[in-house]
Amino acid sequence: MNIIFFGPPGAGKGTQAELVSKELNIPTISTGAIIREALKNQTKMGKEAQSYIESGALVPDSVVIGIIEERLAKDDCKNGFILDGFPRTIPQAEALDKMRAKIDIVVSIELSDETIVERMSGRRVCPACGASYHTKYIPSRDNMSCDKCGTVLTIRKDDDPAVVKSRLDVYHKETEPLEVYYKNKGLLKSVTGKEKLEDTTAATFAVLGIK
Ligand code: AMP
Repeated sequence: MNIIFFGPPGAGKGTQAELVSKELNIPTISTGAIIREALKNQTKMGKEAQSYIESGALVPDSVVIGIIEERLAKDDCKNGFILDGFPRTIPQAEALDKMRAKIDIVVSIELSDETIVERMSGRRVCPACGASYHTKYIPSRDNMSCDKCGTVLTIRKDDDPAVVKSRLDVYHKETEPLEVYYKNKGLLKSVTGKEKLEDTTAATFAVLGIK
């Protein structure tokens, strides 16, 4: 199954994508994670993306389309994949349509701006292995360091409240139109983001017909 997780930043797309990925044994491809890794390694692409990501703006379409094209060509995508954070603009969705991968379903996780701001303020990430946590919803065992590798957790620069506000503005302007785009193709399934992670997961699995 080829799945897109769609929704505002901080809606929990990445978390749900990981759970589905384990269940279906297909890879999750997060353009945000790929770009952050490139930034950490200061590759050419990482340096090019830095100012966009840190200010909450979108990285140019040509860059992310290139990332996805390269990633989808890999062998592990043959039996299915999950896209988390791509596409984020109409031109990106159109470029994806031209790639060989046919999308089966777009799961849209819906959440109010108010809840998103609250959620993002508690988000923590591991700078070493990329695992993500939330001080209230998904705390690590000691709520300070990574359960997987022990590194002290940090706050992403783009989770700063002012940056979150501009990421939401960008979402409403550039990304939300994709809802209609996929609805018109009959691919959109909506899930209401719930207070409890397990409840959102149950709703997500239900629309995907898992379990
Ligand atoms: P995310 O981890 O998905 O919230 O992405 C973090 C940041 O990476 C975004 O705010 C953008 O700056 C950049 N980014 C990730 N995916 C895309 C995309 N599909 N198009 C443009 N920029 C992206």
